[in-house]
Amino acid sequence: MTSPSSFLSSPKYIFLYDKVMPILFMILLIAQSAFALEARWLGVAGVLIQDSDTTILIDPVLTKPSLSHWILNQPFSSNQEAVKDRLKKLGLKQVDGIFISHCHFDHASDVAYLSSHLKAPAYGGESLKKIVHQFDDKAPFVMVQDKSEVHIGKFKIKMFHRPHPAIIRPIDWHFLGGKIESFKGDFYDYREGEVWMFIIEHPEGITIFDQSSVFFHESMKYAGRVDNYFLGVSNPENKNTLVENNIKLISPKRVVAIHHDFFFLESETISQWILPTVNFSHLKSEIDRLSPQTTLIIPEKDQVIKLDP
Ligand SMILES: [Zn+2]
Repeated sequence: MTSPSSFLSSPKYIFLYDKVMPILFMILLIAQSAFALEARWLGVAGVLIQDSDTTILIDPVLTKPSLSHWILNQPFSSNQEAVKDRLKKLGLKQVDGIFISHCHFDHASDVAYLSSHLKAPAYGGESLKKIVHQFDDKAPFVMVQDKSEVHIGKFKIKMFHRPHPAIIRPIDWHFLGGKIESFKGDFYDYREGEVWMFIIEHPEGITIFDQSSVFFHESMKYAGRVDNYFLGVSNPENKNTLVENNIKLISPKRVVAIHHDFFFLESETISQWILPTVNFSHLKSEIDRLSPQTTLIIPEKDQVIKLDP
């Protein structure tokens, strides 16, 4: 029988240690990076989420309106040259799916061009379909329902209908609510349409993408298990509700605060402004107090956010 010490000095062991172990280590590293999940905030509510095989866009709005769109209701769609430029800067050649939370201009104005140009299917309901097919009825579009599950690569995206909160709550005022009956491409044709929240399951973790500060109870099923919570912070009911009604209940590992930049006009300088409804220092201190296990991330535009499990 071989003693342990003679095995350690045997050629078999040396071969195992020198040749096989590094290969196993490499395989492990490659397998790990093949799953690795990361995201980038694209401005407004736009998020790119990807692993090494698959790229998904949510609410990718790269074009903002000018004053004349607001005043004259001019036709509004992608600034195609600017969008191509941005795609190049992001190194984005292939997108496997586009999801839009609702059809307001600050969420849906680039989906038609992106879907057509990148041949990337957009997923949504009747209202979004009208936007996506505004100039190219061959742009890939997949009709989905409430509670649809979409499988793309290792991603499973669950889509839930939810209400959009009033913009001015005391008088229950909505910006262009309702379905899009006919879409002519004018600025005020970007109506609310179907409103969605997304729960994204991936081997590297669970991600919730929700635009609203009014809590949606479907999320509670995931309480305590959420790794990444992309939360629109533009329109809180009051300054405490984002934490009390959302973050504290879900208790996610990290919150990525999105939809905090000024999105009403196309000026690059103005879009650096933070919306007056957003109070980051209060948000941070409330998270530290009520959900201390949660890390708040306030991303820079296009910065890579590692979504480690
Ligand atoms: Zn919005």
